[in-house]
Amino acid sequence: MDEIKAVYIHIPFCKQICSYCDFCKFYYDQKWVREYLMALEKEIKDRYMDEKISKIYIGGGTPSALNNEELDYLFAIIKLLNLDDNIEFTFECNLSDITEDLIDKLIANRVNRISIGIESFDPEKLEFLERNADFEDAQRKIEMCKAKGLTNINVDLMYALQNETLKMLKKDLKLFLKLDVPHISTYSLMIEPNTKLYNKKIEAIDEDLDAKMYETICKTLENEGYEHYEVSNFAKPGLASKHNLTYWDNEEYYGFGLGASGYAFRVRYTNTRSLTKYITGNYVMEKEMLGEKEMMDYEIILGLRKTKGINLKHFYEKFNVNLQNQYPVDDLVKSGDLIYKDGNIFINPDKLYIMNEILIKLV
Ligand code: SF4
Repeated sequence: MDEIKAVYIHIPFCKQICSYCDFCKFYYDQKWVREYLMALEKEIKDRYMDEKISKIYIGGGTPSALNNEELDYLFAIIKLLNLDDNIEFTFECNLSDITEDLIDKLIANRVNRISIGIESFDPEKLEFLERNADFEDAQRKIEMCKAKGLTNINVDLMYALQNETLKMLKKDLKLFLKLDVPHISTYSLMIEPNTKLYNKKIEAIDEDLDAKMYETICKTLENEGYEHYEVSNFAKPGLASKHNLTYWDNEEYYGFGLGASGYAFRVRYTNTRSLTKYITGNYVMEKEMLGEKEMMDYEIILGLRKTKGINLKHFYEKFNVNLQNQYPVDDLVKSGDLIYKDGNIFINPDKLYIMNEILIKLV
């Protein structure tokens, strides 16, 4: 197994709670933040084995919800990590938190990529999601980031909302493209248990419309020079998220913080979502020690999310078995679900929206 190179750190505080959210989060409360950061520092000291880290992602929750002093503490904790000179360092921001001072602080602390959860500019969609975003404000703040040299920017777009039409999605896409950022992550709305939408008994939209929306997104973004490198992710050449590719390449990474997941030393784990347990040092809630078969299954399930799929030679070198001998790949190539090309196996681009059904047949 290669040495761990990636770290995810979860900051579970938000200033408002979105209707669809099932992430691990709490309302921002200063009195809990300090205690949380102290526990995070302890977790990192207890578990990190001083590997050289070349990819770090601070996500949430809303990391940008922290105040100045709290951010200083967070960045002091990150100094515990042995960071590579060529690090990709991503920090998730809420649009309303972006100020000149915040950007200066991020840059001073080696952040070189930001991810902004915009989701939509459509007032009706925003009301449904219980979020705020204004196009002029977004444009101004993104220009400010770029002017300061922070040019590697992702924005999130959400679609397939109840009452959303293709026309609404196309309008959103047009505005997102005007932001001229190198990375766009898209999410088809899922109604997850324990969310406000679930409690209101909101239903998912018609599957055909969902598929049509996905197709519209793929075509529109590809026409504008974005590479569709993962089922839901699009990037200008060379600017795919290195950190997120860690997941899809089935490489190991540390997940630190409340509710964070990680994969380290052949163990996939999920940390507790209980703040009180976390603060008292009971970090891990679930662990799964992987055998060879489970590792191969993960390699396939995650690897086929990438549009370039899985390299068969790489698979053989990693597991010492032929992928085609272990899984019914040839049958799925015959049925047109999978494509074999240049030593790689990948999902037929026309069938990406039914990826889960294909994976079930395969694994
Ligand atoms: S979606 Fe993001 S900002 Fe909204 S409540 Fe969840 S973690 Fe917080």
